Amino acid sequence: MDTLHDCAIVGGGIGGLTAAVYLARFRRRFVLLDGDTSRARWIPRSRNHPAFPGGVTGDELLSRLRDQLAGYGARPVLDRVERIAREADGAFRLLRASGAETRARTLVLATGVSDVEPPIADAFEAVKAGLVRHCPICDAYEMIDRRLAVLGRGDHCVGEALFLRTYTPGIVALTNGAPLGCADAGRARLEAAGIRLVEAAIESIARAAGETGVVVRLADGAEIRVDALYSAMGMRPHSGLAADLGIPLAEDGRIPADPHQRTAADGVWAVGDVVTGLNQLGVAMAQGEIAATDVHNRLRRDEW
Ligand SMILES: Cc1cc2nc3c(=O)[nH]c(=O)nc-3n(C[C@H](O)[C@H](O)[C@H](O)COP(=O)(O)OP(=O)(O)OC[C@H]3O[C@@H](n4cnc5c(N)ncnc54)[C@H](O)[C@@H]3O)c2cc1C
Repeated sequence: MDTLHDCAIVGGGIGGLTAAVYLARFRRRFVLLDGDTSRARWIPRSRNHPAFPGGVTGDELLSRLRDQLAGYGARPVLDRVERIAREADGAFRLLRASGAETRARTLVLATGVSDVEPPIADAFEAVKAGLVRHCPICDAYEMIDRRLAVLGRGDHCVGEALFLRTYTPGIVALTNGAPLGCADAGRARLEAAGIRLVEAAIESIARAAGETGVVVRLADGAEIRVDALYSAMGMRPHSGLAADLGIPLAEDGRIPADPHQRTAADGVWAVGDVVTGLNQLGVAMAQGEIAATDVHNRLRRDEW
């Protein structure tokens, strides 16, 4: 029969790896199951992550966390979790893509989100080159006085374009043939901020020659050239496992958690981008620390 782990962490990105380091130091018997698709892998170089004055790539941060974990003799198991069932004794049974099963007394969900990519060939390379961007909080500072496009609709598109206005006056908001889709106030605010709104359909989005920017060709033949395109097309939270466990999701599809990162289901914690809130490396790390500490305290209380 399989081992009953103290904890199973699902997701070995930034939040899951941090939780694992803490659980290792709490001398807990845990397993870290990972699909190896961390959003951090898309980060060309983060310059807002604290304590790295020269910036740090997402890959380097992941590999530093894995190295730190290896120092305690642990490492992520590359295997996706397909389903989680609760057993009569309250333990969780995780069914893995490989066919293997894992049992654990507690669960930390650190499954992240996926960004909806704009229609550009090889989006991963375009993001790595800084031509397509997803996070103005992370990298708008590097785009001061540059020409930018924001692709999206509704309040999200308006909000992102206005956020970028702190950095540059040269912004065009693109809706790709759809109406802007928010109250007139949104349109008026764009206008007041000097942001051009283009609701025409887009024929193609491509990297400019020499990776110098992005060329957006509209269906009427007009061309818009910018230094980078911010996608405001949203994200898909990986919250299916939480929903299967009966955890009510927030309106945005993410998992609500309390200040200890506890979810609505007893014995289940959630951390990082999949939790409603600010999607940042430091936030995922902090939430991993908080959850792991609460898991350990909860197990100690149950034990003694
Ligand atoms: C282009 C880009 C630039 C960014 N720049 C910055 C920046 O400069 N500064 C900053 O602070 N933040 C930045 N971020 C955000 C940062 O990457 C995320 O906030 C951070 O990675 C979130 O960590 P996480 O652990 O929640 O999720 P992730 O790191 O995405 O990890 C989630 C992991 O869960 C795994 N998983 C999902 N479902 C399952 C399953 N069923 N079974 C097993 N494993 C599963 C996935 O495979 C993945 O490995 C950026 C993001 C992007 C996309």
